[in-house]
Formats: sequence, structure tokens, C-alpha cells
Amino acid sequence: MNREPARKSLWTWGTTENEPTDEQRRHAAAAVSAMVGSEVVAVAAPTPESIELPASRVTVPEHLHDICATDTYTRAAHSIGGHPMELLRGFRGDFTNPPDVVARPRTEEDLERVLEWCADQGHATIPYGGGTSVVYGVSPPDSESIVTIVMGGLSQVLDIDETSRAARIQAGVSGPDLEHQLRSSGHTMRFFPQSFPWSTLGGWIATRAAGHYATGPTHIDDFVESTRMLTPEGWMESRRLPGSGAGPSPDRLVLGSEGTLGLITEAWVRIQKRPVFRAKASAEFPTMETAAEAVRQIVQTKLWPSNLRLLDPVESQKSAGGDGSHALLILAFESADFSQHANLLEVTEMVERLGGSITSGSMRVIDESDAVGDDGSAAGAWRKSFTGVNAGLIHGLGFITDTFETAITWDNWPAFDAHVRAEVGRALESTLTASWLSCRFAFVYPDGPAPYYTFGGLGTTGGEQAQWRIIKDAANRAVIEAGGTITHHHGVGRLHREGWEAQSPALFRAGLTAVKDRLDPTGILNPGVFF
Ligand SMILES: Cc1cc2nc3c(=O)[nH]c(=O)nc-3n(C[C@H](O)[C@H](O)[C@H](O)COP(=O)(O)OP(=O)(O)OC[C@H]3O[C@@H](n4cnc5c(N)ncnc54)[C@H](O)[C@@H]3O)c2cc1C
Repeated sequence: MNREPARKSLWTWGTTENEPTDEQRRHAAAAVSAMVGSEVVAVAAPTPESIELPASRVTVPEHLHDICATDTYTRAAHSIGGHPMELLRGFRGDFTNPPDVVARPRTEEDLERVLEWCADQGHATIPYGGGTSVVYGVSPPDSESIVTIVMGGLSQVLDIDETSRAARIQAGVSGPDLEHQLRSSGHTMRFFPQSFPWSTLGGWIATRAAGHYATGPTHIDDFVESTRMLTPEGWMESRRLPGSGAGPSPDRLVLGSEGTLGLITEAWVRIQKRPVFRAKASAEFPTMETAAEAVRQIVQTKLWPSNLRLLDPVESQKSAGGDGSHALLILAFESADFSQHANLLEVTEMVERLGGSITSGSMRVIDESDAVGDDGSAAGAWRKSFTGVNAGLIHGLGFITDTFETAITWDNWPAFDAHVRAEVGRALESTLTASWLSCRFAFVYPDGPAPYYTFGGLGTTGGEQAQWRIIKDAANRAVIEAGGTITHHHGVGRLHREGWEAQSPALFRAGLTAVKDRLDPTGILNPGVFF
């Protein structure tokens, strides 16, 4: 059979190969109907031929022809990120402010040529990794001319330092490609955000992403040894060191810069030997409160489980096959060198002492099948649902779902959670039917958890954007009012700007603006984010 080569999807995460079939969408509609108690019907998925865009306003100079595209599909596909509401817009063919040009440099010299052109002409310039931003970080603002620079052509592991266990890697590499290139030397970066299949090293650094090992190294910050970034004012490269106390860190400026200060082209990152031993268990707790207290005590013992993930009863029911009456704790240890038996025993004893009951557990040498993660346990079911999410399944059903994430210290946690649930619950009640709000701890630190909330329910077809906005605004407000951060790992983008301003010191923002003016004097880079 002659199949079209896969290209970036306009309405779900990943490529056209990740798009659900009409049959799968009908099944999803039936599941949603059962959940909300009224019939919702899947409408047909869009065809690429139906897209209409305003003509490109930019003439590409001849010397950049071979790395620039202006065709309708490419421009449309790069006008949205990975937020469910952006993808819904894509599903409906609504591509506001598409880039006029999509450039794909293959080398640093190509990148220099493109950025020089953008700076000369004053084109708004949007750095683009995998386009999985869920905070409107890659969807261009209203500008006179827009060039999106896709970093995927710079995707090689350039160097491996086996002695120090670090690698020099180009920023446009995707998660799977990065792991594939490290595998032959027996290494792994072991940095697994949920968007791992589609996001890139440069995107992780630019957004201070967090991977799904719930304690220990969590943020990409913990992995970065040095960075290399091209700004409109030239190159900025930091010295590669295991640690340094030499004043404010240049890497700290690059981490979280979200494409506003320059384009990250490379980084040295810490890698490790592939793990060999794993020990894991899951446990049920009668309430989220008792479970949260157990998590606090476990993480403060400094046993550092590689996974310590807590799902409230609603989340456990929705994604791990629970009956809705228990919180679920998923625990795992792993090591390249030692059996983790003793650690697991230690923690499972603690869990039982603190009111939990162990429901499954295993200790084994890791084999490749672990990557699939469905071993029949609640933890396996959760992992499968976590890695198998597909935004495209629910478009057009009037069904709204989204997530928000934050972090809060333990002393504030119970009051924080109560406030968020009350405020978001009220917004949900007034906006959607059959709504729900669930929470899990995506990450935990000795001084506090990083809770991750998911909400959903049935709105009205066509009214989803406005209804979602009411709930999202309530969530943003509640998180800030109750003392949390506007984001633990999704970034600021255009969606969290107000919250970022509310939580960051005014003088700090003024200092950052001075840095921006020095590195990007004409303000072409990702306008609307931070500045
Ligand atoms: C299903 C799903 C699950 C997710 N799960 C997680 C998760 O578990 N953990 C997490 O942290 N995040 C998660 N995210 C959010 C998103 O994946 C992260 O923000 C990720 O780091 C973005 O990487 P990207 O390569 O897709 O970057 P993009 O989305 O392309 O860009 C994100 C931002 O970084 C800038 N940027 C990208 N590349 C560069 C570069 N080379 N130089 C300078 N700036 C650049 C862009 O301008 C933009 O502002 C999830 C998103 C989705 C859709």
C-alpha cells in the first residue's frame, strides 16, 4: 500500500501516524457518553486539503531557500503547540497568526544565517523544538511578520565522556532519538517527561521541564552541565563543570528562557548507566490525606525512590483501574549496580506502619518489556494510561479536559489543596456538566509536593474555548492566592504570564528586561513571552 509519509499532526500530539482513526474516535465518544450520561457524537476529522491560511507576507531570500518552507501545511502545523485547546483549534481549521515562514536549519551556520536575516528584517522569531508547549509558548503572537525556527535539524549526540558520564548533545534531538543514540554505549539520560516521544532537549532546557522520576534529579536543571546558545548579539557558551560557585550561573539564565533570549543549540548533560535492578510496589490508602502524610515521611527519610507517585481516589479510578475509594501510591527503586530489595522492604514497612496496604510488589532485573509497563498491576495500568494519552480522541465532542500543575511546601499543602479544589470546583460546577477534578503528586521533594491536577467535563460544542478559559483562570488565580507557583514544569509561555508576574519580584523582572535588551535588542525573539 502507498502511504503518505508521516508529518506533524494538525490536531493531536505527534505526527499524522498518531492521529486516532474515526473508529477509535467513535469508541471514545461512546465512552464519554457513558461517563456523562448523555449521547455525544464524534464529528469527522479534518482533511489537510481543507486548511485555509492568509498568504505568507515574507519573501525568503535566495540564500535561505533550501531551509525555509512557506507551504500551507507546514505553516499551519507550526502555528500551534500541544495544549488541548490549541489542538482543538487545529481540529476546527482555525490557525490564527500562522508563521509566514518555517525555517529548519541543519547546521549552526544555517541557524546564524536565518537569525541574522530575522534580526535585519525585524521578523518575530519563534524558536521551536517539538512543539509540545502547553502554555502557548510556540503559537505566534499578532505580529507583522513571523518566522518559526524548527531546531529538529540539529539532533546529534556529538560526544560522550564515559569517565565523567556526560554527553554533548544537539538541542533539536527528540527524546526517543536521544535515548537511541546513547543506547549503543550502554548509557541513558533517563529523563522522561510525559511528552518524551515528541519533545526535544532544547525545549526541555528552554522550559525547565521535569521528567517522570518523582524524586532525585527531576528538573532538566539537574542534568545540565553547560549550554550553548545563539542570540541576535552572538554566541553565549558556558564552561562545562560539575559545579561552580563563580557568581550567578550563565546556565541559569538559559534554563527557562523559553526562546526569548536565544536559540539553544547544544548542551552537555549528565547521563548514567542503564539501570539493571528494579524493585517496585503499589499501595492503597483509605484517604489522600493519610497517603500524602506517608509520602512526606518517605521522602524525608532520604531513601530516594526513583518513583513515588501518589494518585488521589478519582485519579486512581480514572487512570489505574481503582474503585474510587482509595488513594494509590506507586513506588519504585532502580539501580545500575545494586539490588534494591533492602530499600523496597524499608519503604513497604513504612507504608504499612502509616496506614497503607501493599497491593502488589516485585523485585527483578530489568528487561526490555519493562518499557511497556503493563504488568497487570494498578501501577502498570496507570503507566500505560500515562504514556498512551491521545488528545485527538475527544475533539469535537464538547468535552473539555486540561491539567494544571504547581508546587507547594508541606506546611501549606492541606490548605492549598482545599482552596484549589473549592475554587476550581466552583468554576467547573458553573461551566460544565458531569465534571471532575483529580490530583496526583507528579514529583515530591523533602520540603513539598508538586501536585498535578486534571479536570474535565462536558461543555457545549463550539463554546469550549470560553468555558475552558473560565476554569483555567480560576485555577491560575487559586494557585497563586494559596501560595503555590504558577508552574512547576510546564513553563510560563503566553498562558501563565500573569501568574509569573504575580509571583516574581518586580525588580527581578526589571533586571531580566535589561538582559533581554542586551541579548535581543530589537526584541524579535518570542514576543509576548515574559516581555
Ligand atoms: C502530552 C504532554 C505531556 C507533557 N508532559 C510534560 C512533562 O511530563 N514534563 C514537562 O516538563 N513538560 C511536559 N509537557 C510540556 C512540554 O512537553 C514541555 O514544555 C517541553 O519541554 C517542550 O519541549 P518541546 O521540544 O516540545 O518545545 P516547544 O514546545 O517546541 O517549545 C517550548 C518553548 O521552548 C522554546 N524552545 C524550544 N526549543 C528551543 C531551543 N532550542 N532554544 C531556545 N528556545 C527553545 C520555544 O520557543 C517555546 O517557548 C507536556 C506536554 C504535552 C503535550
